[in-house]
Amino acid sequence: MLFDTHAHLNFEAFENDWRETAKRALLAGIKIINVGSNLETSKKAVAIAEEFSEGVYAAVGLHPSEVQEEQLDIKEYKKLAAHPKVVALGEIGLDYYRLPDTIRPEGAGGVADGKQIKTPTEIKNLQKEVLLKFLKLSEETKLPVIVHCRDAHADLIDLLEKFDKPKGFDARGVMHCFSGSFEEARRYLNLGFLISFTGIITFAHFEGETLAKTPLNKIMVETDCPYLTPEPHRGKRNEPLFVEFVAKEVARIKNESYEEVARVTTENAKRLFQKIK
Ligand SMILES: [Zn+2]
Ligand SMILES: [Zn+2]
Repeated sequence: MLFDTHAHLNFEAFENDWRETAKRALLAGIKIINVGSNLETSKKAVAIAEEFSEGVYAAVGLHPSEVQEEQLDIKEYKKLAAHPKVVALGEIGLDYYRLPDTIRPEGAGGVADGKQIKTPTEIKNLQKEVLLKFLKLSEETKLPVIVHCRDAHADLIDLLEKFDKPKGFDARGVMHCFSGSFEEARRYLNLGFLISFTGIITFAHFEGETLAKTPLNKIMVETDCPYLTPEPHRGKRNEPLFVEFVAKEVARIKNESYEEVARVTTENAKRLFQKIK
């Protein structure tokens, strides 16, 4: 059994065959969490989960790259979070790599297409504001968070450490599609986070040090499909079935058996996503 802890069958790429794609994975013993990126895809993730009696779950959240397109109404997400199939909040986080095209230089003012255009600093601040609202919702609902971070680890760690409570970080979660250093991973582990890896680990340029050093009981696997298709299917659309190749590469790099990696990563997912019966 395997657990694809981060998939997007709720995205357009699967518009015509999300049902068949999910069934293929379920038949192979793979469970799935479809992760939202805005209110619309979050609702779609819940709708898909409702179609299956078990094995398909949802996470709801506003992706940092979409904070400018959607005015966050946290109450809407709170409503969705109460659904029995919603097992996490996400994806949420910080992404400084892919700031929107419509940014204006610092200090300049402007409007484009009738919209107020933000500076990079304003967008980063908005991302942090949205993230904090979801962290608070996480404390309130006791749901774990699925966190996306790109080119923003210093700010994210700072924000999470400040949010931390003396007794430890209540809103536990996972750093998804992790590509940071082991030093960064260690700080997330100290905050109570798990680390999740995608098909990127099967690419030739992947530096396996962080994965090799992270204990297996802190690791989960995911596809982030339709993106990041692992070898040997690179170039094709990714799907939950291919999470097997991620798990196999974890086993190779960590010098463990595939069966052990499958067992432990699935246990880790069940431990984190407690709403799953
Ligand atoms: Zn992501
Ligand atoms: Zn994703």
